[in-house]
Formats: sequence, structure tokens, C-alpha cells
Amino acid sequence: MAKNIQAIRGMNDYLPGETAIWQRIEGTLKNVLGSYGYSEIRLPIVEQTSLFKRAIGEVTDVVEKEMYTFDDRNELSLTLRPEGTAGCVRAGIEHGLLYNQEQRLWYVGPMFRYEKPQKGRYRQFHQLGVEVFGLQGPDIDAELIMLTARWWRELGIASHVALELNSIGSLEARATYRDALVAFLEQHKDKLDEDCLRRMYTNPLRVLDTKNQDIQTLLNDAPKLGDYLDDESREHFAGLCAFLDAAGIAYTVNQRLVRGLDYYNRTVFEWVTTSLGAQGTVCAGGRYDGLVEQLGGRATPAVGFAMGLERLVLLVQAVNPEFKAESVVDIYLVASGANTQSAAMQLGEQVRDALPGVRLMMNHGGGNFKKQFARADKWGARVALVLGESEITDGNVVVKDLRSGEQSTVTQDSVAAHLRTLLG
Ligand code: ATP
Ligand code: MG
Repeated sequence: MAKNIQAIRGMNDYLPGETAIWQRIEGTLKNVLGSYGYSEIRLPIVEQTSLFKRAIGEVTDVVEKEMYTFDDRNELSLTLRPEGTAGCVRAGIEHGLLYNQEQRLWYVGPMFRYEKPQKGRYRQFHQLGVEVFGLQGPDIDAELIMLTARWWRELGIASHVALELNSIGSLEARATYRDALVAFLEQHKDKLDEDCLRRMYTNPLRVLDTKNQDIQTLLNDAPKLGDYLDDESREHFAGLCAFLDAAGIAYTVNQRLVRGLDYYNRTVFEWVTTSLGAQGTVCAGGRYDGLVEQLGGRATPAVGFAMGLERLVLLVQAVNPEFKAESVVDIYLVASGANTQSAAMQLGEQVRDALPGVRLMMNHGGGNFKKQFARADKWGARVALVLGESEITDGNVVVKDLRSGEQSTVTQDSVAAHLRTLLG
């Protein structure tokens, strides 16, 4: 027998039981985005490789070792998007959405990174990203954080996530700091591991978020990024903190918080949880005022973040089991007897016309009453409609409340009104 073909490692199927909770969570996220006036943008999953190299930076983990890159039939190098910001900025420039304008955008969809699959880390994963263009004050940075805080409240996970915040200053201030940090690291080369030694010259700020505890201790004596900030960035950060204080949003300033991608400046933030094990960052972002220009557009301030949906779903399931997917079906239509199926299907259409939004599942494949009622239970229906031969002759239908067990016979013409009262 032929061997079964399996999915690619780290690329998940999301089965019907799971998609129901995904839909409910995504619905909550989208409603909140709408309540702040943000609009969806849909972007291709594949872009030219050079876009990611230019935007994310050649010496980042993502570009160095995580991208799915291949040549198309015309030998153009393409890459499955590892993140959404680069494509969003590319589209914004291409369609003239950015210069001298304000945009508040969001997108959701799969991203691809060649990483070691484990809980909360996959090769195809999903992000919801939010990007705001054309606004430079700290008030918009604060709004993004307030929006995320509202998400946590609506999902019932607010007490399980914590906000970490930092400012990494202007590109120039960071360059000065970088030199100071490298000078410090050079004096302690013998204490660095292989990873940090490699990053020391390519991407020295990444040494700051090493997981190696000994190196973290060593870093206590390293120069502090906060001491190198330019005045404007310092003021911007103080402004952001004041907005968050006024909004009652708690945060920790983490001087070692940097981001893995090159394009950030000033504000960086992460929402982290201790309830998911090692992959604790649910949502991460910051300001990237230089990126639009770097990709060929006119200088435009920008700020945004991306949230990992797998981690969010895991967290909701772990800490808020009450946030369940709704049942799939409200009404189950039972039909038994000769020539009842077609009449029942017509009644189903009539109910769907009269009660938009109500979910009615028709029994297919026959079966006696007992079997059909068991199916109604399985799908979580609240009401069963029952059509037998005698109901069809009389123009009636039996309405059974599956919670109380009460049932009554009503005319088919009045069934929609009965259902409306019953379902509330
Ligand atoms: P990490 O340090 O966990 O690798 P990152 O800095 O690479 O994260 P970002 O590029 O900032 O992550 O992506 C934003 C969010 O997307 C992360 O906080 C996380 O929730 C999610 N994410 C990133 N990579 C993966 C992955 N391979 N699988 C699942 N979720 C991911
Ligand atoms: Mg990563």
C-alpha cells in the first residue's frame, strides 16, 4: 500500500473543533480593531526576497536562517513572508497610501519561518499585525497598547499578560550605544557563548536578550541603553509612559528589551506571559520611523506590532476555559417517513429566510428519530424541528425545546415566530 503523505513538519492543520474557537477569538479581535477605526489590508503571502532582506536586515535571525526562499520559474528569488510589516510598507508605498497621510491598518494571516517546531513555535504560524503610518507622537503608541489591553480584557486573559516597555532611541543614539556595548563585550570575550560571540559584531544589541543566565549577570555591568538615548527619544518615551499611567495600564521598563528585526527605533514593547512555558511573548512591536524611507518611500513615521495567534489561542484555552467556541448549530431539523426529506429541506430554507443568522442544520442520511435526536445533541442544537408524514399532511411541524424537553405542534407558517421567541 502506498505510504500516506503527511503535512510538513511545523505546519499545522486546524480542524473544525479548533477553527470554532479561532473564529470566536478572531471575531473579538476584529471587533475591537473596528471600535478604534482601523481598516483591514490584505497582502500577498509571497514577496520578492530582496524586500525582506532590505526591511528586516541581512544579519537578523529571520533573514539569516529562518526564511523559506526559492526561485520561481523565471529565476526571480521569492520568499514566503516571515512577517507582515515589510509587505505592508511595500504596498503602502506602491499605492501611495503613506506620504502625507494617516493610515491605521491591520492584517491577519499565515507567516513562515524555518524554526525548530515546539509548543508555541511553528513553521507556518499566524499573526495579526497592526500598523499605523503618518503619526509621530507617543499618543498613538499609547493607543496601540490600550487597544491590546482591551483585547486581553475581552478575552479574559488580562491578569495573565504583562507589558514590557523600552525605548531604543534614534538610529544615531543606537549606533553610539552599539560601539560602547561592543567595547564592553570585547573585554569579556572569554565569558561569551558562541551565539553571543557571533552577534557581537553583526547584531550586538541582540546579545542583550540572550537566554544565557551567566551572560545576563555579566550584562549588569554593561553600558545601559537608557544612558545613551537622545533627548527627543527620551521625551517621547516619557510622553508614552504618561499616557499609559493616565490610562491605568501597568508596565515594566525593561532596559534590555530590544527587537530581533533591524527596523525599530524609539518605542519597543512586548506583552509576555508566564502561562505558556518558554514561548512567552504573545505580542511584540514598536516604532519604525525609518523603514518607509529605507524601502524607497518618503520619510513617514510608523508604529505597529504583531501578535502570534497560536500563542494567543493557547493562552486563552489555558487560563480562560469559559471562553469556548459556541455550538455550531441552533436548530436541528429532523425528518422521518416516506417523502419527507424534500418538504423538510424546503421548510429549512423558509426558516433560514425568516431568521437570518440562526444556524439550522438539516438531517441528511436518514435514520430513525432516536438517531436523529442523538445527532441534534452532538451538534449542540437548542431546538429540534420534527417533520413526519402526518405533520406534512396537516401543514404542521413539531417544535421541541431540547433543554426543557417541552414540545408543541405549530403550523409551518408560524414556526419562525415560535422559534424567534424560543431562541430569544
Ligand atoms: P521569538 O523571540 O519568540 O522568536 P520574534 O521576536 O521572532 O519572537 P516577532 O518577529 O516579533 O517574534 O513576531 C511577533 C510575534 O509572532 C511573536 O511575539 C510571537 O507571538 C509570534 N511568533 C513569532 N515567531 C513564531 C513562530 N515561529 N511560531 C509561532 N508564533 C511565532
Ligand atoms: Mg524568532
